Amino acid sequence: MDVVSTFAECRDAHAGITGLVPTMGYLHEGHLSLIECAARDCDTVIVSLFVNPLQFGQGEDLARYPADLERDRELAAKAGADVLFAPVVGDVYPEPPVTTVSVTGIAGVLEGAHRPGHMDGVAIVVTKLFAGVQPDRAYFGRKDAQQLAMVRRLGADLSLPVLVAGCPTVRERDGLALSSRNTYLSADDRTRALALSRGLMTAADAAEAGERDGSRLAALVTGSLEAEGVAADYVALASQADVRPLDAVTEPAFLAVAARVGAARLIDNIHIDLVDGRLVADRGVRLDHPSVLYGGTA
Ligand code: AMP
Repeated sequence: MDVVSTFAECRDAHAGITGLVPTMGYLHEGHLSLIECAARDCDTVIVSLFVNPLQFGQGEDLARYPADLERDRELAAKAGADVLFAPVVGDVYPEPPVTTVSVTGIAGVLEGAHRPGHMDGVAIVVTKLFAGVQPDRAYFGRKDAQQLAMVRRLGADLSLPVLVAGCPTVRERDGLALSSRNTYLSADDRTRALALSRGLMTAADAAEAGERDGSRLAALVTGSLEAEGVAADYVALASQADVRPLDAVTEPAFLAVAARVGAARLIDNIHIDLVDGRLVADRGVRLDHPSVLYGGTA
């Protein structure tokens, strides 16, 4: 597998259908599932590894975001990547951009409301990755449901010729959604962090038993957090297509939670779809082994 640092080198690496998996690195099985999915669909798989400063706010974890290029190189290659695109900030932003990319509406709620500038930072880097790498397909996780909705809308609005695929959330054995930020959690914090997925799984069961009401579904998550003394930034039901707040599951939706646990700010969600008039929850997939995040092997 080649490691490159410029957009031109990525374009030179194209052969046949090219898939892009954008990441911020410190790979875990959530990222690896996207790479494996891309490897099944595409002839060439490019994994980008870039901690984008524009999507971090003041006081956030930009400076301490975990990084280990050699570790990521091995994991990405094993999962089926052909090229690792690991640019430095100057490769991506030779000059601070004066162009803004803002997906109005979608960018202003949930994460956008709690992390000012974050969604626009994601929007510009994704636009640059699509323009610079020129992939045929790009793979994103449902774990970041709002980001997925935003990228889809961005691609459609700007006629970007990239097919955007959304892949299921991968969870640790006990349900905690995999995140590079899980490495910030102490053992105690990790136990408390399980309140997010536990609440969402309870809500998934309730939805499949017929509960459509947004406040009642959200209350199940809030109750789970409160039991562990975790305060939520938000718990919200929103539409999958445009992240519109929903009172009830009347269209494909997701129930999202964001909360700070110890040194980590975590997000998680379940998608809830309507199938033949009944609600079906996507709970994601669970590992049956310890995650590579903690030093295990894939
Ligand atoms: P990140 O490195 O956190 O920016 O994530 C890069 C990509 O991996 C995004 O499309 C995320 O949605 C996706 N991703 C992160 N965590 C998971 C997970 N636990 N399961 C599936 N996809 C994930």
